Amino acid sequence: MIRRLFTSLILLTSAALAAPKGPPNIIFLFCDDLSTQAISAYGEKRKLLETPGMDRIAREGIRFDRCLVTNSICGPMRAVIQTGKYSHANGFYNNSNSRFDSMQQTFPKLLQKAGYTNAVIGKWHLMTDPVGYHYWNVLPGQGAYYNPAMIDNGKQVKQTGYATDIITDLGIQWLKNRDKTKPFMLMLQHKAPHREWEPALRHLGHDKDRVYEEPETLFDAFEGRSKAVSDHDMGIERTMTDRDLKLAAPAGLNEDQLKYWNEYYEPRNARYREANLTGRELVKWRYQRYMHDYTACVKGVDENIQRTLDFLDKEGLAENTVLILSSDQGFFLGEHGWFDKRWIFEESLRTPFLVRWPGVSKPGSTNGKIVSLLDLAQTFLDIAGQPQPGDMQGRSLVPLFKGETPADWRKSFYYHYYEFPVPHRVRPHYGVITDRYKLVHYYTPDVDGWDLLDRQKDPLEVKNFYSDPAYADTVKELKTELTRLQTEVHETIPPPRFTHGNAPFEGEPVQPKKGKGKGKKKAE
Ligand code: CA
Repeated sequence: MIRRLFTSLILLTSAALAAPKGPPNIIFLFCDDLSTQAISAYGEKRKLLETPGMDRIAREGIRFDRCLVTNSICGPMRAVIQTGKYSHANGFYNNSNSRFDSMQQTFPKLLQKAGYTNAVIGKWHLMTDPVGYHYWNVLPGQGAYYNPAMIDNGKQVKQTGYATDIITDLGIQWLKNRDKTKPFMLMLQHKAPHREWEPALRHLGHDKDRVYEEPETLFDAFEGRSKAVSDHDMGIERTMTDRDLKLAAPAGLNEDQLKYWNEYYEPRNARYREANLTGRELVKWRYQRYMHDYTACVKGVDENIQRTLDFLDKEGLAENTVLILSSDQGFFLGEHGWFDKRWIFEESLRTPFLVRWPGVSKPGSTNGKIVSLLDLAQTFLDIAGQPQPGDMQGRSLVPLFKGETPADWRKSFYYHYYEFPVPHRVRPHYGVITDRYKLVHYYTPDVDGWDLLDRQKDPLEVKNFYSDPAYADTVKELKTELTRLQTEVHETIPPPRFTHGNAPFEGEPVQPKKGKGKGKKKAE
């Protein structure tokens, strides 16, 4: 009897071991404007925040140190992820007036055909409804932080609470109720920490009024670089509104919530008004307020990531699930005196990328190769064991997840930003990026010219080496490489003048600025 029991136990165990796990599940934890500087696993020297949830993913998986975007703004990068194609190839160039053509090939549609059940929850921002998902529940446009409306498979529903918590709740609920006969792909997409950086009320004062270290380039004078760089409208000094700075109350709070909000901000705002700051002192104050609010929003994301990870553990879902944490781009946290993104400069070009694939990725490892959100569509298809369509323009990251970087992995990368002049007066530019250099062309007629950045000599990217004779050969080589990449991705230069709903170039009237402190424009 005992012997028989023992034999059955062995049989059971080996059956369990031999049982095919099936294609892995995929969870894509996505943030909006989350920069590596605010994630403790990336070890930025300012130590802005501890992020134990994100750090756990890094500890149990791989931290990619140079994940780049192709066009550093929200909608365009989401379109790149869906399609595995550059903006000029998927038709979504900017946030101002592009609409995603949902009839085109996307990776969720292909996963659906392969038998996956898919969901997207949270921020979508592609202007047309999601296609390729069994379930979608998304914020309209940018969405609100407090008590947001959401669109549940086409029907608008008013939610109560804080966006980051709500999106996590909806994700967990979907995971509980999903079709368990199929592998799943869940895109859980937070709005945070997007402007205007409105924290959960429980995180007001989370930093106990600490003083944040300033970035070395907070007062960058932009010497030696293109006029395109200095003629911006995204500075802490010149662009931040009262609402950004919490000198005006946010929308969407109920009476009790507003009271709580005022109890935190009003005494501090009163002290600020009394001080009557100007010049550098004003910028310094604004930077501190910005850091409090931004890091509080990231703290909200991090708590919810911990909650998501705990749920996966509890449900036994952690093991056969590839979990990726990323953001649609990086963000300036005071570097060059800026907030926002858009530029080919490192802070907005580079985005966080953490991957946990139990049994496949080596815990606690790092990878410094140039990878991109452009690679995600092919990566997801490869994870699912599906073929990668030949017209996608990235490359599967699965070998890198396994710790086997192919010898012919890319050594250069192509970047192109288009949106101008609103909302932040960042001129269109394209460029080639290598481990060491960036060669950038600002090509609107008023500033037509090149900048060369050398990250080895000038990690802060405050110098332009383009006209330095010592770099003549480098410039020549990089120009050749840039042309090669533009040919490879089939982009016509200069880009055609705009049949795709793109923003106007210089020479067209610049839209007048709205009054300060009145909330913000739609596009960002
Ligand atoms: Ca964004």
